[in-house]
Amino acid sequence: MIPKYRIRCVGGNEIVEDISLLSCPKGHNSLVRTEYCCRKLHLTPHPGIYRYLAWLPVIAPLLPSGGPVTFTSDELSRELGLTHLSISFSGYFPEREAHLTTGSFKEFEASPTMQRLQELGGKIPVIASAGNTGRAFAELSARCRRPVVIVIPKKAVPRLWTTEPAQAIFLVAVKGDYSDAIAMSNTLAAVPGCVPEGGAKNVARRDGMGTVMLDAAVTTGRIPDHYFQAVGSGTGAIAAWEAAMRLIGDGSYGNRLPCLHLAQNEPFTPMVSAWAARRREIIPEVDMPDAIHCIGKVMSDVLTNRNPPYSIQGGLFDALQATQGHMYGVPNVAGTEAEKLIRDTVGIDPDPAAAIATAALVEAVERDIIGPDDHILLNLTGGGYERIREDFTLHTVSPSAIMRPDEPREALAAQLTEWIRHHG
Ligand SMILES: *Cc1c(COP(=O)(O)O)cnc(C)c1O
Repeated sequence: MIPKYRIRCVGGNEIVEDISLLSCPKGHNSLVRTEYCCRKLHLTPHPGIYRYLAWLPVIAPLLPSGGPVTFTSDELSRELGLTHLSISFSGYFPEREAHLTTGSFKEFEASPTMQRLQELGGKIPVIASAGNTGRAFAELSARCRRPVVIVIPKKAVPRLWTTEPAQAIFLVAVKGDYSDAIAMSNTLAAVPGCVPEGGAKNVARRDGMGTVMLDAAVTTGRIPDHYFQAVGSGTGAIAAWEAAMRLIGDGSYGNRLPCLHLAQNEPFTPMVSAWAARRREIIPEVDMPDAIHCIGKVMSDVLTNRNPPYSIQGGLFDALQATQGHMYGVPNVAGTEAEKLIRDTVGIDPDPAAAIATAALVEAVERDIIGPDDHILLNLTGGGYERIREDFTLHTVSPSAIMRPDEPREALAAQLTEWIRHHG
């Protein structure tokens, strides 16, 4: 049987034989990327993201699944004076056929990641998250009854809800911040039977998010000229770029990459600052001085990653360079105005990050960075939380353990080993 895809190191250009690896075994500081043998995007009858199964690194779909929806809003287009504006919405908006019960595009990452791990031998993913990612994996676990290990700061526990009671989540609450949760997750990922989920390095995660671009191209018949998104790690934007390259390879959707227009939330804007200097390295003292203080001031905390895959080969710097991209620093006031604009025109409550992306679009229009007749894709990466609360009973997940960051972890690792015996 011809394998469906190969993995290639972007930096060294060589094939990586072991498809389960998250990084290049030769040590290049590079992402690895999937290369699908099928250059044409064949659509399947599966729902949600699995309509694009041809370009997902899994054999079978993990159902049920939601997916991105692409539509136009006459009101928003008129308000902005744009003739070819498409919206991709990843959230809960039943009137628009958007059914993501976790409310964000993190669900597109969680689903193929869980499915791929199952197909590659059934290891259990370990995820450190401060918000939407943890919730996406928790929901998928509850829905599909597959085990996951999630580590979050203790104060984020109330945000980790599911719409069905969860059966197989080993949740660790750390009395600390996101960095403490990451450190704890590294210990747990070393427990036999577990693997680190991998973040941006995980090809399933990127190709899952790439379905936003695929759905837009299939719906509108072409690759957009401009793509707007708010970025924290930049993984979603890298995924959009990679998906656009595949669409060019298909030949039916045009031959020009979309220009990436990416937004961060002031005052925490490390990638805006580094890109303004066209610098591949993020220098903490220059690009994110007083980080903790600044992170405390943004309206969208999913945009505050302190260690994004920006410099790495095949990462966000390369994506911006390849697409002659723009970065925007959006203050909270502009974000709040854009939130109201989306509510009034599209008719849904956007995730704060989606509001930040909209504010960048408003700025691009005002500054004539884009033309009124250009083909634009605005990625509203999350929203519809108010409707989710109306339509579903939300279940919070109780922690299996609550840890101090400095506490010895042997007992916790033993507890996880025992848990895996029952759930693995
Ligand atoms: C995580 C997230 C983002 C940022 O995505 P990255 O891939 O980390 O850049 C934007 N919007 C929402 C709603 C998110 O949850």
